[in-house]
Amino acid sequence: MKNDITAVSERLDRTVHCISVPTGLPVGAVNAYLIKQDGQAVLLDCGPNRKESETALIQGLRTQGVYHYGDLSALILTHGHVDHVGLAGKIQSEGVPVYSHPDVAYWVDAALQGDRYRMDFYQALYTLCDMPEHLQQKAMSEFLFLQQLNDQSVVNGSLIDGDRPDCLPTMNVVEVPGHAQAAIGLWEEATGTFFGGDQLIGRISSNALVEPELGAASGAQAKRTRSLLDYRNNLRRLLELPINVVLAGHGSPVEHPHDLIKQRLLDQERRRDKVWELVRTSPGESAWFYTAQYFPHRMDQPSLILSEILGFLDWLEADGAICSKTVDGVLRFFIE
Ligand SMILES: [Zn+2]
Repeated sequence: MKNDITAVSERLDRTVHCISVPTGLPVGAVNAYLIKQDGQAVLLDCGPNRKESETALIQGLRTQGVYHYGDLSALILTHGHVDHVGLAGKIQSEGVPVYSHPDVAYWVDAALQGDRYRMDFYQALYTLCDMPEHLQQKAMSEFLFLQQLNDQSVVNGSLIDGDRPDCLPTMNVVEVPGHAQAAIGLWEEATGTFFGGDQLIGRISSNALVEPELGAASGAQAKRTRSLLDYRNNLRRLLELPINVVLAGHGSPVEHPHDLIKQRLLDQERRRDKVWELVRTSPGESAWFYTAQYFPHRMDQPSLILSEILGFLDWLEADGAICSKTVDGVLRFFIE
């Protein structure tokens, strides 16, 4: 017997095919979704710009009768991270329009120099957080490596909260700031299906990555986003949407996503308390100090772990549980 979602999908005359695209990155394969509806073939995310990835994408498209990128009606990007967008330039060069949150342009469009802006921001942030010099160098070289996997493209059309893309008339755009600030999901009310990008992944908790706020004179002068707080607000919003399944950017579909969302929110609170305990027992230290205490065995990913701990420190500060002060160029945290 067909399950409800399959039955409704057939009534909508809509099919979804997941193409697993290897990335060569620690996160593993990324999911690109080919959504066919009303004679249109829409690709949601595409994988990084590397040979093995493109071969897998092309093969996956061929099994579904899409023999050229030009046969696609549109490419929609959930967010600007390179594992999701790197091949967008190649696909676009065959006449396929690219749609995304407008600020994804700062990730994919070379003319906007978003990479430079982010690099200047992170360099200043690492110094402010007192990350050791050799780890700063490691983080920056990883940043440069990831940039090489991005074939630049242009955002042809914006998708923001509440939009209904012409190419996917049964779906609603839901903005999902958190893991990335410029991020969207697609929600299909009739089936309760949510294409969530990296907002909710079954096998790992998504990092709410700290980013520069846009609009400063340079990245070095940009304020950092409170991504974890945005992420939590957004997770709570998703709890109010009737969602049966999340088709995630990585890994298997997440059934009963509300259970997982509640678990993620609780896990975050538990980790926040652990960070508060670190500040309480060693006040006056830098963000990097607490990061190294919390993640002594994950020094191979300095930018990720710093972002994670900084998120909890900013949250504790927003709640008035701790305060911070910059002393000789280093941000230090104290118990209120
Ligand atoms: Zn991502």
